[in-house]
Amino acid sequence: MWRVRGGWGREVSLEKRLGVFLGITTVQAGDAKQPDLFSEALRNAGLSEEWAAGQQVHGRRVRAARRPTASARSAVWERPTAPEAFPATDGVVTDRRNLPLRVFTADCVPVFIVDPVKNAVGMVHAGWRGVHKKILSCAVKTMGAAYGSRPKDLWVTLGPHIHACCYEVGGDAARAFQKTPGALRRKGQAGADGEQKYFLDLSACLRIEAGRLGVPAPHFSTAPHCTAHDERFFSYRREKTEKRQAAVIVLL
Ligand SMILES: [Zn+2]
Repeated sequence: MWRVRGGWGREVSLEKRLGVFLGITTVQAGDAKQPDLFSEALRNAGLSEEWAAGQQVHGRRVRAARRPTASARSAVWERPTAPEAFPATDGVVTDRRNLPLRVFTADCVPVFIVDPVKNAVGMVHAGWRGVHKKILSCAVKTMGAAYGSRPKDLWVTLGPHIHACCYEVGGDAARAFQKTPGALRRKGQAGADGEQKYFLDLSACLRIEAGRLGVPAPHFSTAPHCTAHDERFFSYRREKTEKRQAAVIVLL
């Protein structure tokens, strides 16, 4: 169950059950790409201000973090992430306690993964390209190789992201999911450009993928918030700005 209060939305039921911090900053916390604001959010949640993250490129690379890649003391903060972050990486996993893993999103899906058996966590950034490239499978594989995680023990939850109600796509995004059952809903009228448009359901795609990987259905869940609808979150579709929320998971 997600509870949005002040600067954070948190999945409080999973936090309690699995012994993790599992949350995402809100508009109230400000643009999380501003290092001082992100640090403040971490402090407010009682978390370490040194974190591990990837330099997000809508790819499928996942890296295992043993120590922080960046911190509030980073002198330079370049878009979209600090220069110390893992290059060309959209997912980070770790078995270190108290090491926040972070991704930035504003409509893309923040995918939180917890292995309460091997004590490991993962934080993945998945837009349509990442979902299409099967970044969730890459993260599960990486956790298996690094920590011996078994899919049947994993819990996967999707944070606030753009839902099918608002995620109109055409072109490459529509073509990429033509064969995925339940991914696309045809829009009644063609777009202004004459092209057929669809509504894309990234949550459905990830649910199917998690099931195929062997993650038990009751271990999969999705936050009810659509970022394009819910103004407590930044939405690229709604605002067309560079402002982002930070999704954070921490093994406690
Ligand atoms: Zn919506």
